[in-house]
Amino acid sequence: MGLNWFYSLNDVKIDKLIASKRKTISLEVAPDAALIVRTPHNVSRTYIQSIIFKKRNWILKKQREIRQRMPLIQQYSVAEYWEQACSTIIKRVDHYCVTTGLKYRKFSLSRARRRWGSCSQSGNVRFNWRLILVPLPVIDYVVVHELMHLVVKNHSKKFWRKVSEIMPNYRVHRKWLRENGQLLSNQLN
Ligand SMILES: [Zn+2]
Repeated sequence: MGLNWFYSLNDVKIDKLIASKRKTISLEVAPDAALIVRTPHNVSRTYIQSIIFKKRNWILKKQREIRQRMPLIQQYSVAEYWEQACSTIIKRVDHYCVTTGLKYRKFSLSRARRRWGSCSQSGNVRFNWRLILVPLPVIDYVVVHELMHLVVKNHSKKFWRKVSEIMPNYRVHRKWLRENGQLLSNQLN
């Protein structure tokens, strides 16, 4: 019997194999569900396959979780997303302006890769259109965050106190964004 059984048993595909000076093998499921395998030099393909086979359930579960979120992302055209993002986010901004009494100068959307929002010295607020892909409470968190920068420019204790006055559970949403943000920033080019 050859080694082919390993390959046929393994329905897990390696998307990227990186050999380097490291001592151990590591498996990573990237935000786009790709499987990245890092190995030391001189490790046989069979050994790598055996490790993957052992971790098969974990890998497939992670990939499934990511892919479950993806179809939703592909249903609309880019222009529809832009319009939807604009109307949804501006409604939330206006809602929080009414409840806090804060006033911004100009509202705009951005296509930034990493920033979810910004607030300029002159009071212009900008939001990442990819926010349309996140749950509404998380959009609200980003909105409250940027609006609070109209009052406090930095991320001092005072700033977070102000945020928590409007949104006592903001940490939950901040955590969600930190954990899922990278995946989302790879969507909607
Ligand atoms: Zn900030």
